[in-house]
Amino acid sequence: MNLFKHSASSSRINNERSLAYSLILLSFFIFFISSCSQKSDTTSFTAMNTYMTVKSYGKKSAAANHLVQEEVERLEKILSTTIEGSDIHRINNSVPDNNQFSKIPVSPETTYLIEKSLEIYKMTDHAFNPALYPVIREWGFTTGDYKVPSDEKIRQLLELTDFSKIKISPKLVSTPSLDSLLKADHEKGLSSTASIITKPLGMQLDFGAIGKGYAGDRAIEVLKNAGVKSALLDFGGNIQVLGTKPDGKPWTVGIKNPWDGEPVAAVKLSDACMITSGGYERFFTGEDGKKYIHIFDSATGRPVENDLESVTIVCREGLYGDALSTSLFVMGLDKAIDFWKSRDRDFDFVIITKDKSIVYTAPLENSISLLFDFDKVQVVE
Ligand code: ADP
Ligand code: MG
Repeated sequence: MNLFKHSASSSRINNERSLAYSLILLSFFIFFISSCSQKSDTTSFTAMNTYMTVKSYGKKSAAANHLVQEEVERLEKILSTTIEGSDIHRINNSVPDNNQFSKIPVSPETTYLIEKSLEIYKMTDHAFNPALYPVIREWGFTTGDYKVPSDEKIRQLLELTDFSKIKISPKLVSTPSLDSLLKADHEKGLSSTASIITKPLGMQLDFGAIGKGYAGDRAIEVLKNAGVKSALLDFGGNIQVLGTKPDGKPWTVGIKNPWDGEPVAAVKLSDACMITSGGYERFFTGEDGKKYIHIFDSATGRPVENDLESVTIVCREGLYGDALSTSLFVMGLDKAIDFWKSRDRDFDFVIITKDKSIVYTAPLENSISLLFDFDKVQVVE
């Protein structure tokens, strides 16, 4: 009897247990199914002279992607060198006063970008210089009228590129909150004046080397505000990811082979950006048969000529990654390594050289996989 009772209660306990197990399994299964089949939405558009794609996950993905497109288009209207009325167009076409300086009221975004750029200009020993615009234009990169200017012309134009001469008043402490910007000025498409820029005669700016990275940062902010937890942005090859993939695993993002576009390495990323600058993207061939690329050395006023094929930066912030990919390309391999060592590991890099070697920083070792038979692999400690 006792036995029976015992076995009856134990079988009831077993039944309850198996029911509990089934429920747990079922809920895992439902969670698995829902995370695998989480709704996603992909939006593509052209802005900032490039093709942009946003893929985000979750119920609010479609609405969130739409907000991203609006935000990027809003930023383009502020930062473009060619759109009349943009802050940058107004800065570049301003009329100087008697002292040969001009004062231009600009939005919080422009103020923030100029402040950040000044920081990076100093930090990179001028490798990054958004005031190179008059030089870059003379070479025809903005107009399509490519030519090799005379040494004299380059020397004259270089005199206009001392970016430290730009002054901002008042300074912004941090990037303005997105909420305040969106609420204040969405109908107008532009945001309000934040400060006054003072610049010397002839100085002209171009945020081509950081604009897309900054737009990516704002896009991530827009997605987060809209309740999205998982997303991948591709802004003309600048990759920025929010969170992990919906299944909780990191995103795997490829670095393209500069020679034929095949992936040569893959890096696992979450809440990060991966941004590449390469001489193979935009260039022209001069009458002398030489290849002139769109990344410039501010020391010489000439397109960079070195043994690098591409520089990829992995870090948290798109603006920083974008600025550094251009800067490290200008520095060349040895200076890039020294710079990384001086920066207390606040970013990582993957550099591919023309002689088919790959050089990357040690913290990437657990997240990088090589998909190409490089002649040499160097890990920088
Ligand atoms: P891409 O925008 O093609 O991905 P980059 O981010 O490297 O490439 O930016 C290159 C652009 O930045 C150029 O087209 C030019 O407008 C500008 N630029 C070129 N050299 C420099 C430099 N040394 N510092 C700042 N901006 C630069
Ligand atoms: Mg860049």
